[in-house]
Amino acid sequence: MLEAIRRLFEGESYCISDLATVGHPVVHASEKLVELTGYSFEEFRGRSLGFLMRNDTDQDGGRMHDAATAEEPFTSVVRIYRADGSLLWTEQRHYPVHGDDGAAAHVLTLFRDVTSEVHAGGAQAMQLELSGSLEGDGRFFSYALLLHDDGRNEVVWASDAWHQLTGYAVEHLRSQGLRRFIHAEDRAQLDERLQGLREQERRSDQYRLVTYGGKVMWVEDFASRRWRSDEAGITAVYGMVKDITNARRETANLWRLAHIDPLTGLPNAHLLEDRVQQAQLHARRNGTGIALAILDLDNFRFVNQTFSQRHGDRLIMEVSRRLRRTLRRTDTLARLGGDSFALLLGDLPTQRAVLPALEKVLAAVREPYADGSLVLQLAASVGVDVLHDGTRAASHMLERATAALVRAKETNRGGFRFYDDEVDLAMRSRIATERELKRAIAEDQLVLHYQPRVQLDDGSINSVEALVRWVHPVRGLLKPADFVPLVEESQLGPRLFEWVVERACRQAKRWQSQRTPRRVAVNVSPSALAHCNLAGVVQSVLSRYDLHPGLLELEISERTAHDTLATGSPKLEEVRAMGVQVALDDFGVAHSSLTQLRSLPLDGLKIDRSFVAKIDSRTTNQDVDLLRAIIALGKSLRLRVTAEGIETKEQNTLLRSLHCDDGQGFLFSQPVPAEYVIATA
Ligand code: C2E
Ligand code: MG
Ligand code: MG
Repeated sequence: MLEAIRRLFEGESYCISDLATVGHPVVHASEKLVELTGYSFEEFRGRSLGFLMRNDTDQDGGRMHDAATAEEPFTSVVRIYRADGSLLWTEQRHYPVHGDDGAAAHVLTLFRDVTSEVHAGGAQAMQLELSGSLEGDGRFFSYALLLHDDGRNEVVWASDAWHQLTGYAVEHLRSQGLRRFIHAEDRAQLDERLQGLREQERRSDQYRLVTYGGKVMWVEDFASRRWRSDEAGITAVYGMVKDITNARRETANLWRLAHIDPLTGLPNAHLLEDRVQQAQLHARRNGTGIALAILDLDNFRFVNQTFSQRHGDRLIMEVSRRLRRTLRRTDTLARLGGDSFALLLGDLPTQRAVLPALEKVLAAVREPYADGSLVLQLAASVGVDVLHDGTRAASHMLERATAALVRAKETNRGGFRFYDDEVDLAMRSRIATERELKRAIAEDQLVLHYQPRVQLDDGSINSVEALVRWVHPVRGLLKPADFVPLVEESQLGPRLFEWVVERACRQAKRWQSQRTPRRVAVNVSPSALAHCNLAGVVQSVLSRYDLHPGLLELEISERTAHDTLATGSPKLEEVRAMGVQVALDDFGVAHSSLTQLRSLPLDGLKIDRSFVAKIDSRTTNQDVDLLRAIIALGKSLRLRVTAEGIETKEQNTLLRSLHCDDGQGFLFSQPVPAEYVIATA
């Protein structure tokens, strides 16, 4: 049924509410409605439609239950607020939707934007009916109020003007108190101001009243303390309340005019400057960076000339919508006029963190635009200034970004340029490397070398560790240190992991069929741990090669952030349940606590090379004690302990005497291609 409605009303602004559930929550909102109101589908879901009216109550809208029983579709004109706070007049038609049992189970509400009609005055009567003819500043009413020390307050008198101003009877005010008529968002302020009058002679506040017609009215309240009786615990207050709605509106309008771009509703250059300053303060406090990017559409003049200004405006609006969508909520998008926009990105952990955002933005602009039968393609150039170390002044960011834009237009149209040559070069080379790396994985430029792990008591090889190498077409053989950090940053970790596991298992199978079975250990990077479906990947590879799970081991580094370890732990548990071994690599560098260690599903511990490297002729007792303690810790947790980086006989002898289980290092073998792994000693 609901599916049918969706299809029938495709392209309309509507939502469906559930009548069977208390509060009649929305279960579906159409794309058009999402667009009209600025609230996302998720924000609609589960809430009663009344939230669109905020606290602007006393309106006819949202009367779902009436709709269910009504013979005719139930129509009302309702003021709602968009997500950005702007007001929208809507006509809402509610239709009952009957379930299989014939009873109304849902309500379909169709929305029509009637703002312009309301504003056009043709529908002034409608507005009047709803809000009464309450226009104009300068009118005021007075009241007298008793403040009791126990927190109660009672209105003992109010002038008749109260009725003229708000539409409520004076009696209402006396019986229900002032609080009830104050806009919900301002009530806390009222409590505070009344509190203040116990200590203060007089004060004035601005807050909102909601009139009988549901209109929100800004007032200024001048209150003064008249007398006080300690005996009775009473303070008497006299207040004069003035309607200042128009003045407020004008101020708000003036502010809008000065700060908001009328076409797109985005901040203008003026407001942007403000935001840049705020962002910089914030960044300095948090030790993060900010980036200001100026985006200018390429050849946009052509659109305006060839088609019409109206087409141009519509395109600009669509561009602004797309840009907004690619940014985070906390980022600022501003329109600088014409076809140029500014993007202010905050909270950048590194300079490079700006790259994914820029790429997304450029891609969003490049998507084709359809306007009626017209399909257009646009491109943009971007100039960027990043502020990371806080050493440069923020005040000139706009100028620097503009300078970079000019150069982008000259040398890299359709792309971006950074203000700084050095930064520009770094970013460019990074993007190039990232692209190369993707290709390297796809085109098999990576190879695995294997380093044996030796059982220290008898010198036999019990397993090998797979270590990745990149045979770079130009730069030669690259070690992981040269590219694994980049893999992590560019979120290629899961891809690399899949590749390595696949190759490692293939090799393990080969060894098995050569009757020299060896377990292969594969390193799992933090991003792979976080974003990979470990169990799924491992399971599929094991079954592809029909490999015993005991022949695979995964190594996770102790350097991995605690959060990642904690959330990755169930994944490791899952893999372990399959029979795959799990070891903690680089142990000792991050000082994990015993509790943390115990909470991880582990079979082995690999002591970081740095501890072993300390063992030479100058070794102190302290160094040895530390190693002894680490080994004991591992054993107490029933883990197999491996010492990494054994280069000398001396180290080997000592570790054996400390009963370390396994060792790995150049003394036994460098990492080598599979065919060079020596046969079991
Ligand atoms: P790791 O997992 O701790 O690997 C051991 C590293 O120590 C290897 O460096 C190995 O060549 C080196 N090594 C072994 N024995 C000795 C020794 O006796 N002396 C010295 N000085 N070094 C020794 P490699 O291959 O450069 O790898 C460095 C790190 O890169 C690895 O540390 C691992 O964290 C990461 N890595 C390697 N392969 C992969 C991979 O396939 N995926 C991921 N995510 N990371 C990898
Ligand atoms: Mg390792
Ligand atoms: Mg290690």
